[in-house]
Amino acid sequence: MRRVLNVQLKERGYPLVIEEGLLERIGEEVRAVYPAERAFILTDRNVDAQYGAKVESALRGAGYQTAKMVLEPGEATKAFPSLVPIYSALLENKMTRTDLMITLGGGVVGDLGGFAASTYLRGIPFIQIPTSLLAQVDSSIGGKVAVDLPQGKNLVGSFYQPKAVFIDPVVLDTLPERYFKDGMAEVIKYGCICDRAFFDRLAASPTRAQLSAWMDELVYRCCDIKRQVVEADERDMGGRMVLNFGHTLGHAIEKYYHFGKYSHGEAVALGMVAITRLSEARGLTPAGTAQCIADALKAHGLPYDDPLPPMAQLLEAIAHDKKNLGARLKLILLRQIGACFIADETAAFFEKNDVDGIE
Ligand code: NAD
Ligand code: ZN
Repeated sequence: MRRVLNVQLKERGYPLVIEEGLLERIGEEVRAVYPAERAFILTDRNVDAQYGAKVESALRGAGYQTAKMVLEPGEATKAFPSLVPIYSALLENKMTRTDLMITLGGGVVGDLGGFAASTYLRGIPFIQIPTSLLAQVDSSIGGKVAVDLPQGKNLVGSFYQPKAVFIDPVVLDTLPERYFKDGMAEVIKYGCICDRAFFDRLAASPTRAQLSAWMDELVYRCCDIKRQVVEADERDMGGRMVLNFGHTLGHAIEKYYHFGKYSHGEAVALGMVAITRLSEARGLTPAGTAQCIADALKAHGLPYDDPLPPMAQLLEAIAHDKKNLGARLKLILLRQIGACFIADETAAFFEKNDVDGIE
């Protein structure tokens, strides 16, 4: 089934299309949105091996002159040294301001390629074809493009909206399990903050086969939630914060282990349970909510009750987080599963050490 969301932003809107098998017709789909002369495909080695040839030939079939650049997979690629070869390849291929950049891949390719598109010749049009679950439900919506610095992730970037986002959930069949799970942590997060029925359905669909049966609808629901949040707060001035549920502690956990022990999704999973336990202990969230989240995470093979590092050290990491530079912390807490609120707290929120799983 074809599902189309129109992402409405102040300057202009764009379509986000979700359809199983969409990649088969990607040439015409792209042409219908942006009929340029040249299309430059940016992808990574893993995604290229699966889908690079298909996308390139479909674009050629639709009349584009194509060029393709294949990057090394992994977060390390999302950095300044990758940009110069991309700009050089864009120049060599005579890409002008009316030509099109196409990012085919996960969040790394989307963020890096989007940033390159936003800066090359002061900006050329781009289209996202996200291929990881995380990219389909999260990073391809919202217009944030960025590269990392040695000092931290996403420290240089811009807001740059694509001409369109094309999502084919079928490509998730080749996504390795660990990345699929990573995306599922964000999917469960959407259920927690916005949609109880969606959360319940996720909790009751623990296998990948069960999820596959409704993947297009699942991806659509997540994109629609993110679309609504982003439309209300295009420039990340406040409202988007709800998407950070589980992320304040999650980022601190990732950082404490130098991004080695837990993936982002795993750290967010632990963060969602831990913050909800703390919130329950303060009477801000009904008892049993954290257990409910833990059960859903467990069903999807995500961590939920690992012992956490000492809270004092996590707080230190939180204080250094660019999103929490002030003395007060904005925390996203749950009123219940499916409804969240923004709480204005101080570090004291974390001080009472009487919560399971927090030393
Ligand atoms: P990723 O891009 O590294 O992709 C994960 C792995 O899966 C890679 O090895 C990739 O080659 C492989 N892969 C992707 N699709 C595949 C497919 N269909 N079949 C086989 N292999 C496939 O990582 P990610 O988890 O997609 O994205 C993480 C990045 O997203 C981080 O840099 C993060 O900062 C960023 N992010 C950005 C936003 C935003 O708003 N812009 C939001 C969340 C995360
Ligand atoms: Zn996240």
